[in-house]
Amino acid sequence: MSAPQASASVAAPRTVVVIGGGQAAGWVVKTLRKEGFDGRLVMIADEAHLPYERPPLSKAVLAGEADIDTVRIVKPDEFAGLDVEAWQPDCATSIDRAARIVRTRSGREVEYDRLVIATGGAARRLPDALVRTRHVTCLRTLDEAVALGERLRGSRRVLVIGGGWIGLEVAATARKLGVEATVVEGAPRLCARSLPPVVSQFLLDLHRSHGVDVRVGAALASIEDHPDDPQRVRATLADGSVLDADFAVAGIGLAPHTALAEAAGLPVADGIVVDEYGATADPNVFACGDVANHPNAWLGRRVRLESWANAQNQAIAAAKALLGKAEPYADIPWFWSDQYDVNLQILGDLPTDADLAVRGSLADKRATLFCVKDGALRGAIAINAARDLKLARKWMQQGRPVDLATLTDASKALA
Ligand code: NAP
Repeated sequence: MSAPQASASVAAPRTVVVIGGGQAAGWVVKTLRKEGFDGRLVMIADEAHLPYERPPLSKAVLAGEADIDTVRIVKPDEFAGLDVEAWQPDCATSIDRAARIVRTRSGREVEYDRLVIATGGAARRLPDALVRTRHVTCLRTLDEAVALGERLRGSRRVLVIGGGWIGLEVAATARKLGVEATVVEGAPRLCARSLPPVVSQFLLDLHRSHGVDVRVGAALASIEDHPDDPQRVRATLADGSVLDADFAVAGIGLAPHTALAEAAGLPVADGIVVDEYGATADPNVFACGDVANHPNAWLGRRVRLESWANAQNQAIAAAKALLGKAEPYADIPWFWSDQYDVNLQILGDLPTDADLAVRGSLADKRATLFCVKDGALRGAIAINAARDLKLARKWMQQGRPVDLATLTDASKALA
């Protein structure tokens, strides 16, 4: 695809509107000013907080160790210096692409030269038919994390529905706070969509060793007020087992906020379809972060990534591209999670038909798993071995041939 806005005939934007107020939106406004954009900049966001980072929400914020001041992307003084008209809390309700106007719920409207949609997504909800209690919460926003943390710290047992990243990090934080935790995962193993079976098993053992009651392959049949105490909950699984808890947290995935783009006639297919510069089918409209589906040159396929690194770096690329400084975004996907004393990082791709080899020891909680296909490294998972990933990233960028036997020989230095 050709670089958007690169031609000298395209006028520089005078007004840029950003819909969204999360990490991607924060990096768009920061980057636009850093790159010298001095026009009008409007950010429309439904949360009252200035852009903040989400990784601490399920860890330090939940534990009561971090608040808005520690998770912000830009300090209030710095944000003031960016001269952004922050329409918060407000919500964009329509995009008129012909007139280039965004309208909001509060009745305001703004005309744009370029628009960035960084609307992220919402926590998926359990089907209404399963839920007959008010005591099921979810964790997506800072306010939800603060409220959930207060509740968790005053509880004895929490029920976590979903054994994905939210579920496991909430369970680990609960245990750190001395709260009992049960995790109910519908799939036969934990984080099945992002991890190979051996690492799912590692996480299962890790959580069980910390006293978490983990149920995999467990279908939730209902969750209701506890019959003896309406302030508590009782869940019933399809196999008839009954689980009681003070309250429940559902971490069952993310639904990208694509409705606005779809209503504006922009192509949507598991996210808003963008090119490698973040441009949608409309050259005046860009999208980035959790909501955008981009062609990743390194992966060799389209992907929608829900990660901190993608939210930041795709936003930077989109902001530059809309100013005519197009650099294709082709980062190797990278993700991490902290649970108990384990830092787990995932880099690249983990195709199921690739060879997987372990360096180090999963039992000792220090290992790197290399995923090799056709003699090249496609992906790596590091368990308390972040340093190995630095080398892996270099080799993956170089496309350097690797030999599994050498990689896994722990008697030899990886370098
Ligand atoms: P997730 O990682 O997609 O995991 C959701 C899990 O819940 C999946 O294993 C899913 O199984 C399971 N599930 C779905 N419906 C269920 C049901 N009715 N009962 C039991 N299990 C069910 O999503 P998440 O944990 O909710 O996280 C949301 C977003 O936050 C993601 O983008 C995630 O990457 C992000 N996040 C990132 C971090 C980090 O960077 N460390 C930490 C927390 C969250 P199926 O796959 O079979 O549907």
